[in-house]
Amino acid sequence: MNDSIVTDIEAELADLSRALTEPGERECLRCYVLRMLHEFGCDGTLRWAKYWRDLRAPRAQALARKLAYRGGHCDCEVIFNVYPRYPQTTKLQPCAGVSRRGCTKPCALGPP
Ligand SMILES: [Zn+2]
Ligand SMILES: [Zn+2]
Repeated sequence: MNDSIVTDIEAELADLSRALTEPGERECLRCYVLRMLHEFGCDGTLRWAKYWRDLRAPRAQALARKLAYRGGHCDCEVIFNVYPRYPQTTKLQPCAGVSRRGCTKPCALGPP
């Protein structure tokens, strides 16, 4: 096995998993967490919410505490308790986008 090929493949796989889990440029916290729960499920922590925070709103240090205060102790609870206003649908809706990068408010997507 050629070492440089292995390194290339590893780099490509790393890129791929990053592309799958990276929040969209203007994707809101709620739509991102929902999308990740759909793909990977909840592991009982705020794994995706914190990942979104680290990449999109690194200065929102109190975010996890605020979510927990509102009943969001893990990613699925964030969706059920913190952002319950989501269109009743079995299909994920594309995020309507937040106006400003780093904004922790959910996008305008909601029930009519
Ligand atoms: Zn959960
Ligand atoms: Zn959204």
